[in-house]
Amino acid sequence: MTTTEAITPPKVQDQKMLIDGKWVDAVAKQTFQTINPATGDVICRIAEGDKADVDLAVKAARKALESKPWRNMAPAERGRLLYKLADLIEKNARELAALETLDNGKPIRDSLTSDVPSTAAIFRYFAGWADKIHGKVLPVAGPFHTYTRHEPVGVCGQIIPWNFPMLMLAHKWAPALACGCTSVLKPAEQTPLSALRIAELALEAGFPEGVVNVVPGFGETAGAALASHPDVDKVAFTGSTAVGKLILKAAAETNLKRVTLELGGKSPNIIFADADVDAAAKFAYFGCFFNMGQCCCAGTRLFVEDAIHDQVVEAIAQRAKKTKIGDPFDHSTAQGPQVSKEQFDRILGYIDAGKSEGAQCLTGGKRVDRPGFFVEPTIFDNVRDDMKIAREEIFGPVLSVLRFKDLDEVIDRGNKTMYGLAAAVWTRDIAKAHRVAAGLRAGTVWINCYNVFDPSAPFGGFKMSGIGRELGEYALNSYTEVKTVVTAIG
Ligand code: ADP
Repeated sequence: MTTTEAITPPKVQDQKMLIDGKWVDAVAKQTFQTINPATGDVICRIAEGDKADVDLAVKAARKALESKPWRNMAPAERGRLLYKLADLIEKNARELAALETLDNGKPIRDSLTSDVPSTAAIFRYFAGWADKIHGKVLPVAGPFHTYTRHEPVGVCGQIIPWNFPMLMLAHKWAPALACGCTSVLKPAEQTPLSALRIAELALEAGFPEGVVNVVPGFGETAGAALASHPDVDKVAFTGSTAVGKLILKAAAETNLKRVTLELGGKSPNIIFADADVDAAAKFAYFGCFFNMGQCCCAGTRLFVEDAIHDQVVEAIAQRAKKTKIGDPFDHSTAQGPQVSKEQFDRILGYIDAGKSEGAQCLTGGKRVDRPGFFVEPTIFDNVRDDMKIAREEIFGPVLSVLRFKDLDEVIDRGNKTMYGLAAAVWTRDIAKAHRVAAGLRAGTVWINCYNVFDPSAPFGGFKMSGIGRELGEYALNSYTEVKTVVTAIG
């Protein structure tokens, strides 16, 4: 099988939700539509969860947490189930990629070569951790034997967005399950399909009933019910900063559940004149426009040193003009639609704001003339730091180019944002690269690369880009409570 073998949009049945190992309708019997963003057509209807369904799912997750099959399972056995799930994801790669492309609109070549393999890799990475999570023996004063235990934090409410639906599920489920927690996951209302299919694979892998539950539905109802549920021990959320604040508030007002947040960004990508300009321009394009610009770490503020400004801008504009936009199921398509009409309208609003504030629109600047929610790759030059398009997260294919002259100036301007998720710097001078990396307040800094992720590398934000880290060993902190046990031995 090659990755370019034709894949057609799958026919999808109406979907139920997964609670306590069973596929069920919503208590209120409500359903909602999920839409194909490439056409605007309805794909199918999904059971619409609300507070009553969240209550049942949390009850199931609590019961599973405290029941023998999961509580007493050997850690290595939990790891084995995670490995098995990773294998099943790979075995069903083409089906999962097709579902993701249908529901989200991302090009099939990205779903196949990036989303699915990265999802499997994250499950495998955390499978390896399952039997390596342990505390320490501590050298306390006095006749006491003191040690720590790293215990599962408990029932996790996990709320994910629509930009990388299955990958975000892996960010949430893999560490939670490795640590022995149970989960109630709420996928984004725009893209529930891949989570429901992976949940089915989790049952096939052998996770006991109730360990993973999926309640699709809307944010203000199902999502809010999860964030404010008194019997949820921890909530993990990926999405907008505005909703992140609501989640934190809901947690504070109920039971002080643990909260991790992975939120928005307005990442600076800085190109110095001594960089490999071709590579920098190529990755400046990729860093901003990958996934139709729907990445929280997108390098949307491109700072270019004066001396190479024209050369870089020209190279990026050429890429924008050559980008193949269209049917996401065509293997040669590089850019599909935005995920929804709402996002599409929002992005066009930002493009209008850029034009009216006086930025120079070099490429794109409008919708693509075809059905579905397609927006042309849009590059604005001569952008000023105070313009709306340079300050606010657009979450679409829109790049702002800003000029700079000097290292301290660009660090300062790079940091002038409420966000701090990611950043990049391009230079052949290693001292300069590391000075900038140290100066930028961001959770990830890429040097001479962009969008390089790995299950072992922590990901998360400084400032209003979030709280806590996902992936890597650091993620285990979010899914464990530390217990100190002291024994008198004197
Ligand atoms: P976007 O604006 O990009 O859709 P959101 O932050 O609104 O991003 O959505 C991310 C996830 O958060 C989705 O699963 C969504 O349903 C959920 N969500 C939205 N609003 C709330 C809320 N008030 N409480 C809990 N979850 C929410």
